[in-house]
Amino acid sequence: MAQMNDAPQSVVELVTDHFLNVFYFDLGRYLIAAGVMTLVLWLFSRWLELRRIQQRRAKPDDYRREVLSSLRTVFVFGVTTLSTLAMRQAGLVSFSIDTFTWTALALQTVAIIVAHDAYFYWMHRAIHHKRLFRTWHLHHHKSRTPTPWAAYSFSSWEAVAEAAFVPLYLLVATTLGVEYIGFAMFLFLWHMIIRNVIGHCGTEIYPRGWVDNPLTGWWNTVTHHDLHHSAGTCNFGLYFTWWDRWMDTEHPRYRETFREVTGRRREPEAAAVPAE
Ligand SMILES: [Zn+2]
Ligand SMILES: [Zn+2]
Repeated sequence: MAQMNDAPQSVVELVTDHFLNVFYFDLGRYLIAAGVMTLVLWLFSRWLELRRIQQRRAKPDDYRREVLSSLRTVFVFGVTTLSTLAMRQAGLVSFSIDTFTWTALALQTVAIIVAHDAYFYWMHRAIHHKRLFRTWHLHHHKSRTPTPWAAYSFSSWEAVAEAAFVPLYLLVATTLGVEYIGFAMFLFLWHMIIRNVIGHCGTEIYPRGWVDNPLTGWWNTVTHHDLHHSAGTCNFGLYFTWWDRWMDTEHPRYRETFREVTGRRREPEAAAVPAE
């Protein structure tokens, strides 16, 4: 969220003073998160190859489509952030940049992540409705074998629906009398892009046993969202398994698939043939 002076600014000033900053912030977040994940997959490919969830591989055209439409999404996010700043000027939402306690920061960060998980689940189910799917969400599902670059690969309509969460959340928080902490938003946005990129990386990076441990089983794995892309009719949740379990939309073979992917073992190297 770009910092701004308290003096009211016109729409033109908001655009000229803040749009490029906001655009580069979102773009930087996407490029860093997807770039680092791609580098990790490449550096550790010898070990991670066994953890690839699908046999199918993304093609160069898939990468091109994912990156180009993600740039469009960053543009939409920039426009939405400017709208949020304009709403702040109009007194509809309030957030502070520099004063906070660590307890309030932790509570607000957790609260917005949990709220976003619920928003995403229901928005995602809505855009899977047959009346909306083709226009709103088909574009994201063109990535049948997603890559880290698919994190923002949305149609323009879906980008608006995704971006609308932040101003809506701030509007509700302000109505409830909560002064939102700008740094909590910063942490939320980094958590969002990191989890999003991990969910699309196509390679299971969580350790064996994750889905069977009650302490971790509620935290979505890569397999969870990858199954959404390959099957398309289940696993609508973003960060946590709660909503899919409550609404009975979890893939019936989710845990089994995770166990299979994380239980693979490298074939032992062929023993050297002793010299005659
Ligand atoms: Zn979907
Ligand atoms: Zn996806």
